[in-house]
Amino acid sequence: MNTTLVQNVRPLGGEPTDLLLRDGVVAEVGPGLSAEGAAVVDGTGLLALPGLVDLHTHLREPGREDAETVESGTRSAARGGYTSVFAMANTFPVADTAGVVEQVQRLGEEAGWADVRPVGAVTVGLAGRQLAELGAMADSRAGVRVFSDDGHCVSDAVLMRRALEYVKAFDGVIAQHAQEPRLTEDAQMNEGTVSAVLGLRGWPSVAEEAIIARDVLLADHVGSRLHVCHLSTKGSVEIVRWAKQRGVQVTAEVTPHHLLLTDELVRGYDPVYKVNPPLRTQADVEAVREGLADGTIDVVATDHAPHPVEAKDCEWSAAAMGMTGLETALSVVQHTMVDTGLIGWDTLAERMSHAPARIGRLAGHGQPLAVGSAANLVLVDPAARWTVVPEAMATAGRNSPFRGMELPGRVVATFLRGRPTVLDAELVQP
Ligand SMILES: [Zn+2]
Repeated sequence: MNTTLVQNVRPLGGEPTDLLLRDGVVAEVGPGLSAEGAAVVDGTGLLALPGLVDLHTHLREPGREDAETVESGTRSAARGGYTSVFAMANTFPVADTAGVVEQVQRLGEEAGWADVRPVGAVTVGLAGRQLAELGAMADSRAGVRVFSDDGHCVSDAVLMRRALEYVKAFDGVIAQHAQEPRLTEDAQMNEGTVSAVLGLRGWPSVAEEAIIARDVLLADHVGSRLHVCHLSTKGSVEIVRWAKQRGVQVTAEVTPHHLLLTDELVRGYDPVYKVNPPLRTQADVEAVREGLADGTIDVVATDHAPHPVEAKDCEWSAAAMGMTGLETALSVVQHTMVDTGLIGWDTLAERMSHAPARIGRLAGHGQPLAVGSAANLVLVDPAARWTVVPEAMATAGRNSPFRGMELPGRVVATFLRGRPTVLDAELVQP
């Protein structure tokens, strides 16, 4: 095991200090540390955060290796400051059996860039007709605790109720992609002024809100855990706020792109802005920022969705939905939430590391940087600024909506169990 001494780095809420990482854990914390033979990292001006955890990533493997592989996706995660990602189940084959989730987990271990936690499908083939083998996936070596048909909504209320009941036995959670299917048939963008002007079929806010309202009532009835994926509207924030006040075990996530971008961008018909749920209005952006600040929204999750160039470089109606996000997430959250004074870095760490690890029942991540805790951490330069160039990213996807934008904050180093995956903002081969 290697030993690394990080000197003069600023921990959350504290004065600059040194961190000694040895044998995969934080071995010592304090000023003026020394260790013979240790690699030394100068942390002057840098902030030390717990390694980020993404509760919602699409790694595309198995089956769509042309879009992303576990290797390229987790390199991208490391570059973004992540030490663990939850890999969504909409692969080919779908991750709906113990065999597939174990395969995804193994690919993550072999790559070695970040801990990969497979998400299991709720229904067989994401088809919404019968429950997948939730218990077998939970009992497998992958130990699945998060289940989602993401990309599709579990719209059948009886199936959703059964899924919530089933996962209670092993403390699992159902992560719902809230989209009423009949209300969103052939939807191309947010339903509103812009869709009316452009003549594109709209995806109304109520299609998201109706499912969230139903699901929080079901979760309350069953006494089980519900997680709302990529919440995007003002009304959704209000429903989750109401449910939490009522004591429902509900948590929610928002994506970086829904914290910054609006449907006004669709006016240029650039498919890079096509995403599900769609970009909403400025009022929605303000509501999700407020919800994230006050804790109604627990988590920022990327919904990193890489696509091959040909899936995006086409006319709007034919283009695939989704955006990459792992390498820009921290900067977008700093830009929209920290630099605006809505939250501090401690809350950012809660929303991007502690809470996602807690919701996903992920051990060894999302812990405060204290002696004895796993050395999963990221060093950030909050004063740096950089311009987004998708071609320079580690992800195989080039579909970043932030192309050309200047953003604050830079991931300088990432450590996975004490081993650097990124140093001087460059990947370090495991
Ligand atoms: Zn997704």
